[in-house]
Amino acid sequence: MQLVLTKNIDGGGKRVDFAAYARSGGYEAVRKVVGKLAPADVVQVVADSGLAGCGGGGFPTGRKWQAMPSRAARPGPRYFIVNADEMEPGTFKDRYLMEGDPHQLLEGIVLAAYAVEADEAYIFVRGEYFQAIAALEAAIAEAQAAGVLGGLTIHVHAGVGRYICGEETALLNSLEGKRAIPRAKPPLPQVSGLFGCPTIVNNVETVCNVPHIVRHGAEWFRGLGVGDEAGTKIFGVSGRVNRPGVYELPMGTSLRVLIEEFAGGMRDGFQLRAVLPGGASTGFLGVEKLDTPMSVAGMAAAGSRLGTGNVMVLDDKTCPVGFIRNLQHFFAQESCGWCAPCRDGLPWVDQILAAMETGQGRQSDLAVLADMPGRMGPGKTFCGLAPGAMASLETGLKMFAQDFTRHVQERVCAWA
Ligand code: SF4
Repeated sequence: MQLVLTKNIDGGGKRVDFAAYARSGGYEAVRKVVGKLAPADVVQVVADSGLAGCGGGGFPTGRKWQAMPSRAARPGPRYFIVNADEMEPGTFKDRYLMEGDPHQLLEGIVLAAYAVEADEAYIFVRGEYFQAIAALEAAIAEAQAAGVLGGLTIHVHAGVGRYICGEETALLNSLEGKRAIPRAKPPLPQVSGLFGCPTIVNNVETVCNVPHIVRHGAEWFRGLGVGDEAGTKIFGVSGRVNRPGVYELPMGTSLRVLIEEFAGGMRDGFQLRAVLPGGASTGFLGVEKLDTPMSVAGMAAAGSRLGTGNVMVLDDKTCPVGFIRNLQHFFAQESCGWCAPCRDGLPWVDQILAAMETGQGRQSDLAVLADMPGRMGPGKTFCGLAPGAMASLETGLKMFAQDFTRHVQERVCAWA
């Protein structure tokens, strides 16, 4: 496969500093457009590139930016926010981008803030990402000294460990010092976001694409994908593969190529049983779906979601009930408690699965579990946390039906 890589994922284990970033063409895009191209033209380039949000939603970035009212139509403060609150199990791509090459993110922020005419920018970063926070703060100091921020103030805000802050409106509430619960939409943050002002919230990887798009053009970026969708994507692979890690590959690369060629296939003694293709909030796909392209449309057609593009591999020596219970335990702990189905339903699912794992499950529990996705699926709760949690449960109950039944009938976990 011919690879055209754009993003420096880990800086070879240490942070790329300002001098190294500038030597490789860094901040050229800023010099190319700031003060020379109208902000609306920069928005148009990003819209034409086909860049889609890389944080899980896959919404077209240019369309999101175009939904922000112009400064003339809406005077007053405007904000650009990077969502770096990466907390989902099995998802770790943004951490590498921030630790390895923070200037790439800063350049993307400068360009994005210019395009949407934002006065201030925030990076809302997961509090446990100490190295990323240090790398970002050091890079901001270097960029300020070099004068490439153009007067833009960039704040690094460390979160305090709540997964729900990855939901953009809960993030806004948290940044305002309020309880981190999602807001009703509309109004969208583009219209009424931080402190009621027009605000754009984009994921780290999404923003890291912007300097390259501005530098090389929309057509170049569109051409990087191997199918209908544009660009490259950073895919992660975790589980019992030979080379777990993050890989930047063309959008549309198949699951098989990602797992077998780049992640080195399964470790000796283990066979691939199923995958969660887009992280913990997506549904299982079996081995017969390995040739599915890793794209938004490809994964939807296969019955799952691209999500964050971080593949969790389930092998034949790991208990699928325990695997799913582990995820449900996480989601139950991370429910923000705002709406009843999620607040009460997820801990119930967690308790049932924990009982099954210790031989305390009952036959009737299977029917209770099967009923849960209908109560916490899309449209049944205030935000997407509970429906995301239900994806692995709903698909897992079908795909691993025999394993669930054995746990209940034999009252033991065969993998324990
Ligand atoms: Fe909070 Fe869960 Fe309701 Fe989302 S679905 S608002 S996380 S309680």
